[in-house]
Amino acid sequence: MSKVILVLVDALRDDVAAHSMGYLEHLTEAKRASRFTVVAELPTLSRPLYETVHTGLPVSEHGIVSNYTVRRSSAASIFSVAREHGHTTAAAAYCWYAELYVRHPYDLVADREMDDPAALIQHGRFYEAADYPDKELYATGALLMTRHLPDYLLIHPMGLDTVGHLYGGDSPQYRNTAIVQDQILANFIPPALALGYTVLVTGDHGMNSDKQHNGTLPDVRHVPLYIIAPPAAPADRRQGNTGRQVSQLAIAPTVLHLLGLPVPSAMRHAPLLEG
Ligand SMILES: [Zn+2]
Repeated sequence: MSKVILVLVDALRDDVAAHSMGYLEHLTEAKRASRFTVVAELPTLSRPLYETVHTGLPVSEHGIVSNYTVRRSSAASIFSVAREHGHTTAAAAYCWYAELYVRHPYDLVADREMDDPAALIQHGRFYEAADYPDKELYATGALLMTRHLPDYLLIHPMGLDTVGHLYGGDSPQYRNTAIVQDQILANFIPPALALGYTVLVTGDHGMNSDKQHNGTLPDVRHVPLYIIAPPAAPADRRQGNTGRQVSQLAIAPTVLHLLGLPVPSAMRHAPLLEG
């Protein structure tokens, strides 16, 4: 087993990651990572897919059907399984994550920093402004990592979604935001690997040229998944570009498998890496 960091880059398109994120593609080329194309569930909206990524369930089963479904998650999730088995959890994420896994409605002041050993997210640092700087968010995530060494850490930057809604997924502004984010990741990932973490980088959905998502085409439905393994991990965790299209429902079982935790029967997809 290993500790796991999931970097959920909001609105990261698969093709833009492949063309613009040179560090992640270098790790893939050098076979220090395994790369997949994830086919996102529908609808390609944030709050429903935050829940899908963490529960391995389609929207019709977990019931978070739109961005306006504001309630706690009621399904088994990466957070709930981790806590049941005494694993520690943390997140630097958008406030909708606080609403899904800690409490709702989100309180801008009281819920900004939450440290509660009984919570599903034991150390939470949350933000509400969609233009909250990615660089600051990653720094908060890195601090949670070094201070608490959580078994599972979620880092969830929103900058790409915000820029995509302003300029579209085919814009230089969107691509440049992905490039900046890749450089932040280049500085974040090596220290995480040195601490024994496996780092996953993926998106919830993509972004189209109409500055929107929620459709069914590859620009909003295809997102990348990079799994970057620490040096001591089995070789099959460093496959390079697998060329495989995989279901988004496989992410939660994969994370639980990496954490050495049981996969609930409701999660029907097998982990992507067996080793
Ligand atoms: Zn969006």
